[in-house]
Amino acid sequence: MQPVIRTLRGSLSRQVSSGLPSKFTSAFRNPHSVRHHSSFPNVNMEQRLLQSGNDGAAYVLAPELTWTGERFERDVRVHVGGDGLIRAVTHAGDDADVDAVVHSLPGRALLPGMVNAHSHAFQRGLRGLGETYPKDATGESSFWTWREEMYKLVGGMSETQIYDLTRQCFSEMRDAGITSVGEFHYFHHGRPGEGKDGEQFAYDETVLRAAKDVGIRIVLLNAYYEHGGFQRAPMSESQKRFKVDSHEVYWTQMDALQAKLAVTATQSLGVVAHSMRAVEVPDIIKLHEESVRRGLVFHIHLEEQTKEVEDCKVAHDGETPMALLLKNLKIDEKFTAVHCTWTKADELKQFVDKKGNVCICPLTEGNLGDGFPFIASCSDRVCLGVCAESTPESDLAKLLFRYATKNGAESLNLQVEGYAADFALVDTEEEQLKFSTPSSLMGAFIFGANGSSVVKATSVNGKWRQTVSKEIQHGVENGDADSSLSDEHRAQLQAAAALADVTSDDVVKLSCGLNSIQSTSGEEATVGRAIQDWLTVRGWQVHMQKVPPQPDAAVKADR
Ligand SMILES: [Zn+2]
Repeated sequence: MQPVIRTLRGSLSRQVSSGLPSKFTSAFRNPHSVRHHSSFPNVNMEQRLLQSGNDGAAYVLAPELTWTGERFERDVRVHVGGDGLIRAVTHAGDDADVDAVVHSLPGRALLPGMVNAHSHAFQRGLRGLGETYPKDATGESSFWTWREEMYKLVGGMSETQIYDLTRQCFSEMRDAGITSVGEFHYFHHGRPGEGKDGEQFAYDETVLRAAKDVGIRIVLLNAYYEHGGFQRAPMSESQKRFKVDSHEVYWTQMDALQAKLAVTATQSLGVVAHSMRAVEVPDIIKLHEESVRRGLVFHIHLEEQTKEVEDCKVAHDGETPMALLLKNLKIDEKFTAVHCTWTKADELKQFVDKKGNVCICPLTEGNLGDGFPFIASCSDRVCLGVCAESTPESDLAKLLFRYATKNGAESLNLQVEGYAADFALVDTEEEQLKFSTPSSLMGAFIFGANGSSVVKATSVNGKWRQTVSKEIQHGVENGDADSSLSDEHRAQLQAAAALADVTSDDVVKLSCGLNSIQSTSGEEATVGRAIQDWLTVRGWQVHMQKVPPQPDAAVKADR
């Protein structure tokens, strides 16, 4: 019997580099002769994989290069069972007795799929708005005014929008090579009086549905959210859509979700207290105790802002949020604190010594100007992090990839019976990577490549999905412009067009509508006209250039 071991991410490495192939070969129970060894032009490789992963039959991946944790190796063969688990990892020549299709993948590198350990997918709708940082009444702008902007977005959102945004966000994750997400989900309730949307916790299942439709592995980190701030501050109108009334209500909902997840191998649950400002300490303790009893992971936002730390000290006799956690909770490897931007070095060290995980979100923290945590105190307990001089690891790309795979999986407790076949397939002949060698490829992938350009396909539980093509189709005239788009891309364009705020009085917001709309769709014309109107009303003369579809098409404006 196979032991319960962690999902593959980053751990395939350990099987191969520690000599485990022979163990796995012996676990491969039904050897027969090779049935078929497929070799076909690059253009068809991913499409063949799609069929292969979906028919429930076992298959073998034979990429040119395979990441084995320390390096890319040639001639590695990965045997995937019909159940979506890795059955064996061998080297070419050892696998003569294989009763499965062998996919020869020249020009491709096979990597473990990455884990995004912290996501709020609906905030996809804020893309571009964080950069404008709205000002408050005193002319100041900050994280807190950004949060007001987020609440405005939340206030008007419908179930359809939540679904579209979440689906698009998950789809973009897969295109970048991410196969698992920890969705820190606190936007629970529909709009009051909006029929089914108004139901309590309606959006929990909306998020799970979006994940299922995209095929991403999800740990729904379902959030308990009870107050608007420290000392039981009242909630704003928008925040009420996050509110959980009691522990009983929370666990009843968790049980209901668990019953529905039982049949889905790629969906599981985790427990969240949104933050110390939104949940009282005794409630955090109670939630955590129950999460431990049930064997679920526990995540919390912690010390992202100095104001949060200061407010906490006022409310709790000078103690910081982290000090309160350390004092009151039994921290272990299933506990993840998200951000820790302003956590004191000594408290951070105590936390990671107890095997707590620190989830750093470099894009968010950079974008919001939060600051940077004491990474040197984090040991190896970082998921999705970025760090430089403070690490003894000589190869930064390798370290970051481990944060994005193995450590992320630990933070989400992604355990299955055996190793799941969750992979990213990277085109090593793509423009951005073609000059790299096996020894420089990981660095080129992490620091020098656009995920959705070089990741050609991803698999979750052995089922493959091709990266959504964003290629511009030349020579397609008006009206039928999107006929050659994939269904997934078309859905993304429609969702983006629906979200573009063409009535906005802010040209930046108008432009945000163009962020996601690609110039083959025809949908961008509405937003383009709105921008023209906005500028014209304000005394600009706008010269629209009619040009054939091309990525650098420009609109000129002068006063
Ligand atoms: Zn967050």
